[in-house]
Amino acid sequence: MAKYLGPSCKLCRREMTPLMLKGQRCLTDKCAVKKKKYPPGPPRKRRGKLSEYGVQLREKQKIKRHYGLLEKQFRRVFEEASRGKGVTGDNMMSLLERRLDNTIFRAGFASSRMQARQLIQHGHVLVNGTIVNIPSYRVKLGMLIEIEEKFKANVTLEDSIKLAKALSAVPEWIEVDFEGKKGKILRLPTRQDISVTFNDQMVVELYSK
Ligand code: SF4
Repeated sequence: MAKYLGPSCKLCRREMTPLMLKGQRCLTDKCAVKKKKYPPGPPRKRRGKLSEYGVQLREKQKIKRHYGLLEKQFRRVFEEASRGKGVTGDNMMSLLERRLDNTIFRAGFASSRMQARQLIQHGHVLVNGTIVNIPSYRVKLGMLIEIEEKFKANVTLEDSIKLAKALSAVPEWIEVDFEGKKGKILRLPTRQDISVTFNDQMVVELYSK
């Protein structure tokens, strides 16, 4: 699966928003958005106000980058969301949250979605007892997620768990057993479960043009 291989902090700086792509580092003063309060690249002449299209585009990029998706993958999620019942923006956010890489990150077994993706691709994650190595795999109600036995003693995993415990960051829709390194999907995530403030309606407006 194609993925972005460039520097993560550059993406945050482009959006001038901390997208929290690097785990613990994002919480420190080393965060590039805190240190450099201007977009990457050579200094440009001051631009005027963004057009309506520009604002919608930037909002779409923010959400897409937050979840680590490329344009095609993101568009596919949007189209699926628009075919579903209810509000498209809400459906889209719920589908993004249900990705296995996001679920592993939210459960506290990885300090970033990127790290979660690596765990999955290396075969360290089981869903209902079977190894799943597809980061975009979508979790369903009642599913059990677990870290593979040999990886349970890994130092990076322990560090991620410590961070998640310190931040009390596990959402209500996942029940996590940190000792057993496993979790259960108690209910499907909704828009209200996402604390980061994204304006998903702008994405709907952008793609509806
Ligand atoms: Fe973004 Fe985290 Fe880098 Fe800060 S440290 S710029 S939030 S990825």
